[in-house]
Amino acid sequence: MSRIDLHTHTTFSDGSYSPTELVELASQQNIDILAITDHDTTDGLPEALEASKGLPLELIPGIELSAMFHNREMHILGYFINLADLQFQTRLEALRATRIERLHHILDRLHSLGMNISLEDVEQASGIGTIGRPHIAQTLMAKGYVKNMKEAFEQFLGSRGKAYVQRVVPNAHEIIGWIIDAGGVPVLAHPYWEGFNKEESTTACQTLVEQGLQGLEVFYGTFSARHISFNLGLAKQFDLLMTGGSDFHGTFKPGIALGKGRGSLHVPPKVMERLRVAAGH
Ligand SMILES: [Zn+2]
Ligand SMILES: [Zn+2]
Repeated sequence: MSRIDLHTHTTFSDGSYSPTELVELASQQNIDILAITDHDTTDGLPEALEASKGLPLELIPGIELSAMFHNREMHILGYFINLADLQFQTRLEALRATRIERLHHILDRLHSLGMNISLEDVEQASGIGTIGRPHIAQTLMAKGYVKNMKEAFEQFLGSRGKAYVQRVVPNAHEIIGWIIDAGGVPVLAHPYWEGFNKEESTTACQTLVEQGLQGLEVFYGTFSARHISFNLGLAKQFDLLMTGGSDFHGTFKPGIALGKGRGSLHVPPKVMERLRVAAGH
């Protein structure tokens, strides 16, 4: 039976494994189908495709984009994106610029709290990839301002932290449109439906479907059986395709294993059929 993981991150965003290392790890763990879904970038995919050559592993090009919906930030995955689509790449560049803008605001706040870290420090921590809050957290740790990631997020960088700054991102219908324009399949990542009750979640899902959403990430690394069955119901109700993945970030998200999540993740092989049909593959 094939093993599938359709949600993973590399050093090109906020994962700790390089694309080559991730592909090698997946292969060692007998994963047959792997999607790399870095935040705001597809730049890690050529390296991963190269590394997967000759291995019994299918690599699916993916991405994870943040979007606003009802004043909340949600994540939308795009699968089978055409990497050479210039319009899409230009849009991603603009999106990455908003990250740098936000980073400046966060560093200002940290500075006013007595913590001096520079943009260069954070850039160094992020290496080649998309800069994210985990890289600020790493810098705070390196400078001795916090003991670990958890403290960095709880005290400063998380949505309740003292230096938190909301990022300005496009609306969900725009992001969904970008993915479709680039030949991809838009899927709602980790549908927690935070802040929505049951009825509101259903209405929200309907709105997203009207905006072009084609799937739900029903099988997710940290979801309980109850959560999975709720999303399964929504997928049936709106005739959406289903995907699944661990949201593996390597050492940046301890306790989440590739292909397994917290241990119980299982992505049914049949999800691939509809995903391929939707992508025209
Ligand atoms: Zn996400
Ligand atoms: Zn993710």
